Amino acid sequence: MRYLSANSIFNGKEFLKEGAILVLDENDHFVEITDPSKVESSSIEHHKGTITPGFVNAHCHLELSHMHQMIPEKKGFLDFAKNIMSRRNSATLEQMIEAATQADLQMQQNGIVAVGDISNIDLTFEVKKQSKIFYHTFIELLGLDPAKTVPMLYYGIGLVNKLKALDLSGSLAPHAPYSCSTKLIKAIADENAKTNSPTSIHNQESEEENKFMRGEKSDFNDLYDFLSLDISWFKPKFKSGLDAYIKELNSGKNILVHNTFSSEDDLRSVHANVFWCLCPSANLYIEDTLPNYDHLLKNTQQICFGTDSLASNSDLNLIKEAAIFYSKTGELELSLKGLTFNGAKALGLEDKFGSFIKGKNAGLNLITNDNKDLKLIKVLC
Ligand SMILES: [Zn+2]
Repeated sequence: MRYLSANSIFNGKEFLKEGAILVLDENDHFVEITDPSKVESSSIEHHKGTITPGFVNAHCHLELSHMHQMIPEKKGFLDFAKNIMSRRNSATLEQMIEAATQADLQMQQNGIVAVGDISNIDLTFEVKKQSKIFYHTFIELLGLDPAKTVPMLYYGIGLVNKLKALDLSGSLAPHAPYSCSTKLIKAIADENAKTNSPTSIHNQESEEENKFMRGEKSDFNDLYDFLSLDISWFKPKFKSGLDAYIKELNSGKNILVHNTFSSEDDLRSVHANVFWCLCPSANLYIEDTLPNYDHLLKNTQQICFGTDSLASNSDLNLIKEAAIFYSKTGELELSLKGLTFNGAKALGLEDKFGSFIKGKNAGLNLITNDNKDLKLIKVLC
């Protein structure tokens, strides 16, 4: 048995009372929380800092790891999207797999134990299979033309079956409202509901997205021109990007990613099962802005965090994302819950990760919050 104490212990949902002792078995599986009077003091390992469960990264794109430092910062979403599309195949397959392998190792060193990772193809499946991290893969689908829904769905289900054959977890995810028809979004949500799996969608990452979905001229018209795609038939008349699809999502688990330009009306229009995944570093990298956290907190506590990819972030360090949120809001408990339990719950993994679970090793991190700055000190197990 191992007996651990620290200046404070956060169990994924709240701080434990002072002096609590965390008991692990010889395989580092959680046994119980006890109090010091029941343990011989010489057998207690004391740690300076706060102990938390392992972190859960609710949004990443391992597949884009080779694009680290390739795209200039703060040039706006249109420039970023054009760069992703035109340069994502600029490396060899071996280089892409090596970059994904290194990114996976980096996440392990940064105390991340589970990841909701977007894949468009099967490039990273083997990396995920070999990793110590638990991956839930979102097979991301695109298709603005409703007529393409069925073939697109079959393509996605084929990749989910490939994940299952490798004993990996996966479900489908629409890319974003400006790249997916509401028909495709509904079909994906219905497909995921059959297996009670989570759905993830990029939401309101730019104000241009809101304009485009209201039917106003926007950067997305330039993007479709750049792609030589005629979308003159597409006449959206929604109130916002989120308004285009929120009714198509069912009451299953749904993760909305970014939310940089979500209004209070948008925030109020969602049902209770939605998790708002925040990726502040990526928002600063691409749009040089952050969501309005005051509006967010007035309407929801269902917050988790994502690193996004190395194409839009200097590193895959989840506590850095929580630290930005914490520095802007002062919400310590919610920042830590977003790093752990909420991320796990958003991905439907709360029986395996995000808190101290009897008989399980959900990871254990030692962190500090000196001067209101959250940092990982070390991974304890
Ligand atoms: Zn993303």
